[in-house]
Amino acid sequence: MGDRTQLTQFAIDYVMCQGACAAGVATRETLAGGPPSTDLEYVLPGAKSAVSFAMPLDAQKIERFLSKQDHAGHQHDNVHTNLVATGLAVSLATFLDQRGHPSYGVSANAVYRKDTPRGLFDFMPDISQRYLAVRSGVGWFGLSGNVITKTHGAAVILGCTVTTAELEPTDPLPAAETYCDECRLCMAACASGLMHRTERTTLTIGGMEFGYSRRRSYHRCDLVCGGFTGLAKNGKWSTWSPGRFRIPEKDEEFQPALRKAIRDSQGRPEIEGGFYHPAMPSHRKLNFTCGNCQLLCHPDRAERKRRYTLLTRNGVVVQHPDGSLAAVSPAVAKRHLTAMSPAQRACYEDVPAQPEPTARAHKT
Ligand code: SF4
Ligand code: SF4
Repeated sequence: MGDRTQLTQFAIDYVMCQGACAAGVATRETLAGGPPSTDLEYVLPGAKSAVSFAMPLDAQKIERFLSKQDHAGHQHDNVHTNLVATGLAVSLATFLDQRGHPSYGVSANAVYRKDTPRGLFDFMPDISQRYLAVRSGVGWFGLSGNVITKTHGAAVILGCTVTTAELEPTDPLPAAETYCDECRLCMAACASGLMHRTERTTLTIGGMEFGYSRRRSYHRCDLVCGGFTGLAKNGKWSTWSPGRFRIPEKDEEFQPALRKAIRDSQGRPEIEGGFYHPAMPSHRKLNFTCGNCQLLCHPDRAERKRRYTLLTRNGVVVQHPDGSLAAVSPAVAKRHLTAMSPAQRACYEDVPAQPEPTARAHKT
């Protein structure tokens, strides 16, 4: 076995033995011609390869999250799995560096390029974890555009280490073996309508073609997954967001709606847990309130349907003055909101402006 093969196997084993459920290697050659966020040298001049891996999320906590029994458990697991993926990426980078191969551990999430026209607010990642993962065989693209793995579906957090070591590339998973049967439950579970129902995005990375449903404005996901609002169109279920701001129809309406929702939701009490995000003003925390398209996409179709049923049959979420969240029926939620003072209520839903008192016709 050559040195290159040995080092490649070592790097893959390094992440697998710390809990990754899949790992692979992409190289400058296998990423050639891909979108700008496949450029490894953006984070490390002289980079030649990247080790991509997936860390599974806790399935029991997902079940309790989707069925709206427990918000904090999955939120905590999600935040910490992101930290573990980042830590593992840095740990492998440090190890390789010590052995003479300068390397860089990529943050699993919430790092954006600062040299684009609007900087951080363009939300362009330094390196695309998704592209590297599909090109190196960690998973396939599902119709949702999420990376779906053989064992844990889309319920994973992706990580990667970029290195100057010349590792051997691994092949993408055979397209014919994907479990994605276009069941569209990811779309049905998305209150924001991010995924286009008929149009597809295709891209070529290293001479191979990949595709998934075209993503409409990312502000859709920011508004809903960001926790500002989250009632399904039929009014019967919601995400973990207690917000009821209107979800617009057109892409161009989302940016103003998002700005308004960020401003109007400021007076809500804080939810337990949460995490800091660089795009939030005044160091306000964000909370995981959705992720539905990712969390329900399991390799077993029956399990996928079961998760979708859990999501859609367990009511809508309201918030109590102490910040706690609870799932209730849509009718109870309506009463809960109308019992609030107008100022409180405006933190959750678009309260119609009160009509000006009409001028009296005759002076008395
Ligand atoms: S939910 Fe269904 S359609 Fe969507 S990515 Fe998963 S398997 Fe594919
Ligand atoms: S995370 Fe939620 S809002 Fe965002 S695309 Fe997925 S289902 Fe839609």
